[in-house]
Amino acid sequence: MHDATALSIAVIGAGPTAVAALESLIHSRNIIGPDVPLDVTVFDPSPHPWCGHSFASDRPEALTNTYTSDMSVRHWQPEHVGFWLKATGNAEFAGNNFAPRSLIGQYFKESAQQAASRLGGFVFIREQVTGVAVIDDRARVHTQNGGFPFDYAILSVGRSDKFDPYGLEGQENFCIRPYPLKDALAGVDPDEHIGIIGTGLTAVDLVMALKADKHRGRITLFSRNGLLPAVRPPSLNYELQRFTVKGIEDIAAAKGGLTLEDIVHLVHEELDHACTSPEPLTEEIFPTRYGIDRLRHQLMHIDDGRKAYSILIKTLLVLQDAWYFLNPADKARAAGFRHIYCSLCCPMPRFRAAQLLGLAEAGQLDVVRGVRSMAKDASGQFVAVAADHPPLHFDRVFSAGSSGTEPDPMAIPLVNSLLRSGQGRAHPVGGLAIERTTSRLLDVHSRPQPRLYAVGTMTSGAFQVLNGYSVLRLRTGHIADAILKHHRERRDRRSRHRAEALTEDALGRRHP
Ligand SMILES: Cc1cc2nc3c(=O)[nH]c(=O)nc-3n(C[C@H](O)[C@H](O)[C@H](O)COP(=O)(O)OP(=O)(O)OC[C@H]3O[C@@H](n4cnc5c(N)ncnc54)[C@H](O)[C@@H]3O)c2cc1C
Repeated sequence: MHDATALSIAVIGAGPTAVAALESLIHSRNIIGPDVPLDVTVFDPSPHPWCGHSFASDRPEALTNTYTSDMSVRHWQPEHVGFWLKATGNAEFAGNNFAPRSLIGQYFKESAQQAASRLGGFVFIREQVTGVAVIDDRARVHTQNGGFPFDYAILSVGRSDKFDPYGLEGQENFCIRPYPLKDALAGVDPDEHIGIIGTGLTAVDLVMALKADKHRGRITLFSRNGLLPAVRPPSLNYELQRFTVKGIEDIAAAKGGLTLEDIVHLVHEELDHACTSPEPLTEEIFPTRYGIDRLRHQLMHIDDGRKAYSILIKTLLVLQDAWYFLNPADKARAAGFRHIYCSLCCPMPRFRAAQLLGLAEAGQLDVVRGVRSMAKDASGQFVAVAADHPPLHFDRVFSAGSSGTEPDPMAIPLVNSLLRSGQGRAHPVGGLAIERTTSRLLDVHSRPQPRLYAVGTMTSGAFQVLNGYSVLRLRTGHIADAILKHHRERRDRRSRHRAEALTEDALGRRHP
């Protein structure tokens, strides 16, 4: 039964971020408005709710690329996922370990169910949202079956899972979506020569799955830069002291913005504070080794002097705020380093790096950079042309590259509806413009919209840093706080007006 006093919230998109949003709403409600019943409606037509594109049921080689402690659905309680893993007999994956992503998907599902049972009301509508508009101070969410009014709406749609830089979609033996691995690898002959577009973590998942299948043919990974994910350094118990959101805000307030030099300076201050040299980092940021060479070098040196690198990984959360304040010219400069940043801040576990090196040294695996084109020849083989390399021939090609900040095609009508009405504004660097501290959408006049919020890929221009789960779940905390505070302010204002009216009535001023 619908509670008319409840706060009604629409969550658009039911991926892992939506689970964190449910948890954050309950957490903020308990702190800011314990008497407020929450009534949440989630929209998503996906066949695997709560898992999104990346955490659905799959083979174990589809592995988390962050420690499982980063996968907690509670931004204020990183141990939550560890408790679940222990309670379900999966203790070996807890803490600073990596887990099959489908196991974490199961955690997301169970967490969502539990969160839903703690809400005043919960509805799941398996439909695509095609538009949102604020009308008469209500957020109206549209699907092909009509409009639904809410107090607030949160856009939590992800990014496209398709990457096809050479226009190969539809060609026989070209696989555009590598997940689920169990489907992508069905029908692969063990002697085929496999080409993999991309050298990131998805490519590593594919190689590991081929290895598990005892693949005998050659495997070639290729990309423009030929940078594999870096080898993850040992975990470090260290809390940032200088490179903090407050540190960034102070510089931005004093200087009216931020430059790339300010960011580099602050990183150096942090490393000074930690009594470590930035030198090993400089070597990584301006690489002279690529592919297997770089992998070998990193594996040899991973234990010496890597404190600076461990600290860099920790800057991920704060870098979003730094990016927000960065001036446009420096954003363009920084974008040129994105492949390096991705390689360093999405590193692979050491045991996987060692397995890759083993395959390379056995002559089965290679990494090629500077690929210019890829097409099918008359014999039905794929041919790639790379700088300083004879043509490469493949029997089968997988796309394992990243679509970057390209939104989920399903979200495009929704975004367009906001742009058309002027209730959303396109960010010059991509996605929708938002207010930094609340994630409220900015309208065409740059006014924050207290009824509309966005998290994830939709905010790529504002926050353009990697969408790791620890970043996303924290933003859902900001959104939940902003919603509950806005609701409380409005309720307090209404109560004040009512009290004033009663006082005036009692004094007989309103009815002389
Ligand atoms: C292969 C891979 C592995 C990853 N591994 C990790 C990891 O180990 N650790 C980590 O921290 N991060 C990882 N990430 C990053 C990861 O993307 C995020 O952590 C997380 O999955 C993002 O969740 P999301 O809910 O924001 O987006 P998604 O998972 O993309 O979910 C968005 C949902 O929105 C729905 N949707 C879209 N448009 C609409 C619409 N118009 N109406 C209704 N619903 C809509 C979609 O159907 C989808 O279910 C990985 C990413 C990839 C691609």
